[in-house]
Amino acid sequence: MDGKTFHLDDGKKETPIEQGKRYVDALLKRIGDRPISELNISFKGIPEPPDELYKMLEYLLEEFIDETEEKYIEALMLATQTSYENGLYQFAYVQYHMLFMTAVYYALLKVSILHEDDLYKAIYYLLKDRSSDFWNESNKKAGKLYFGSFAIISESDVFMLLRIVGLDNSLLGELQKLVKERNRYAHANGQLQLTSDELFMEAIRGYNGLIQRVVELLKEELIDFYKKIIRDPNFYDPDIRAYSDPDEQIVQEFIKEYSISRTEMNWLRKIKLSDFDNCEGKTEIKSLHSALIHYYRELTQDDYQPFDDPYVLYKYKNNAVEFVEKELEISSYECGKEGGEFPVYFCPECGEEQLAYDADNHRYHCFACDENFTDEDLTFCERCGALMRRDGELSICQNCIEEMARE
Ligand SMILES: [Zn+2]
Ligand SMILES: [Zn+2]
Repeated sequence: MDGKTFHLDDGKKETPIEQGKRYVDALLKRIGDRPISELNISFKGIPEPPDELYKMLEYLLEEFIDETEEKYIEALMLATQTSYENGLYQFAYVQYHMLFMTAVYYALLKVSILHEDDLYKAIYYLLKDRSSDFWNESNKKAGKLYFGSFAIISESDVFMLLRIVGLDNSLLGELQKLVKERNRYAHANGQLQLTSDELFMEAIRGYNGLIQRVVELLKEELIDFYKKIIRDPNFYDPDIRAYSDPDEQIVQEFIKEYSISRTEMNWLRKIKLSDFDNCEGKTEIKSLHSALIHYYRELTQDDYQPFDDPYVLYKYKNNAVEFVEKELEISSYECGKEGGEFPVYFCPECGEEQLAYDADNHRYHCFACDENFTDEDLTFCERCGALMRRDGELSICQNCIEEMARE
């Protein structure tokens, strides 16, 4: 993408939010529905963006409520990255500020769930006769507050709502300073002030440190909230809950429902399974909590392999078919229709048809006897195609040898 084709009209007066929004809209129009990975972004000798530039994503949600939310955050991230890669630090900065504010709004959304009454009072105190605008249906999505609901409050005032969860003066001061600084940079005065990579990254690190402090305000309460939810029969009882599959239940009814970020999930996954030992429904509760741990692991571990995950091995015990369909995402129906091979075989160790093959990692696991094999251990019989242990040069299975001997 050629960054030079973007021109901001310096003569026009607009607020920083309008400016950012226009920039993002223009970008969305250009990229259309294509995923970021398909875009051919040109690099102009400027170093690849450091990891710190993507840090804010760890404070934003993992499961999007709808496509609009996903697109909005994706576009902001892409705009930040593209500006950075073109050396347009000042614009990258304004866009990163918007990502930061979005993360703050998501934190406030949690405040609205944890402290409904306090939020009601605080909004009234803050907005006075305009407070009905905040609760108006037009400021909600499907009848519920969403992150954008908070955007009608001025940026430096909106932080005041964090007082409900113990925001102190020093943090408030730093947050308000950010807004002041952003206004200075975003002012359309025809001057580019933020021109060095170093200064820019210093600002980014400032944002990353502050968002961590903001979400920490909610840490203890969120952990308690999770423990309360997961111990509620409506949530854990398979006869009542929305999804019978524990993974689905945790993803849809908790991670997605409450816009849980990666950072927050990292707190929750550290809760010990044994903490639920004395609960009614502990077996179900533990399986749901294991599902959350599993989700986090899959999300964060680059070299994640399902056969190393005890949760997966336990969950699909004697159910290799479901493992292949759900975890390896290979459909037996499509294999049958299109003639592909569905990777479940008879196990050479126990004889059960429970041996699943993970072709990406060249590994086999038997969901009946728990034996593991690799490509080096097993091969297919050249005569009948059955899976067999590798035995020197000979690739004919025992059955075939016996059959041939009889003939
Ligand atoms: Zn076996
Ligand atoms: Zn054979």
